Amino acid sequence: MSTLEIRDLQVSVKLPEGELKPILAGVDLTVKSGETHAIMGPNGSGKSTLAYSIAGHPKYEITGGSVTLDGVDVLELSVDERARAGLFLAMQYPVEVPGVSVANFLRTAKTAIDGEAPKLRTWAGELRGAMEKLQMDPSFAQRNVNEGFSGGEKKRHEIMQLELIKPKMAILDETDSGLDIDALRIVSEGVNRVRATGETGFLLITHYTRILRYIQPDFVHVFVGGKIVEEGGPELAEQLEAEGYEKFLAKA
Ligand code: ADP
Ligand code: MG
Ligand code: MG
Repeated sequence: MSTLEIRDLQVSVKLPEGELKPILAGVDLTVKSGETHAIMGPNGSGKSTLAYSIAGHPKYEITGGSVTLDGVDVLELSVDERARAGLFLAMQYPVEVPGVSVANFLRTAKTAIDGEAPKLRTWAGELRGAMEKLQMDPSFAQRNVNEGFSGGEKKRHEIMQLELIKPKMAILDETDSGLDIDALRIVSEGVNRVRATGETGFLLITHYTRILRYIQPDFVHVFVGGKIVEEGGPELAEQLEAEGYEKFLAKA
């Protein structure tokens, strides 16, 4: 049982001139393993900033508040240490890793996080199984990470990492963006398989309600102007679908 606690988190983005532009204006959120929280908000509201800040991206400066995972101060950890502590981020725009195959990348990531290499005898089968479940061709394992991947392939690769790594907390930033309906279903099924273990907490960041038809959240948070302005259950997503963000913009 794990708990991610975000308290009054305030974050600025570092601009090239060295100035700080405040983005997160005091975020409070608690996610426990087995729970799925949807963060929904308009473009530019700071959703990706929240994800990157928890993951430790150097472009963002924490100016106040705290983030802990099972009582451990996450903000004091390096990016690698955060991953080893059980945090996982699927980025909105996954980056290319030239010269590194999917198979090598996943094995290296798994080794770094578990602290030991996966057993050779079982690893190949595990990898093949994960790829089959996400309906990826076996040749995919030999391609370089994200190089020339379609939007759907990038997202499937992220979910494959999720399934193999089984983190304590998974932050999925707009995993639904750019997916056609079949890819959205396949990716959602992958998330739901990990969810069914009850051992991972999810922060599902999304702009549209579409993915929430496949992955039903336990809690919905409306995110506007760098903070949470409304919270509720799944019915809040339905309200957003019907009415849009307009009535919440005034609350920012
Ligand atoms: P969302 O994911 O909700 O669309 P973001 O977190 O990407 O929002 O961005 C929030 C705000 O921070 C936006 O106004 C965006 O322009 C600004 N921002 C984010 N990153 C940078 C950056 N590197 N330089 C300047 N502004 C940024
Ligand atoms: Mg955006
Ligand atoms: Mg974003």
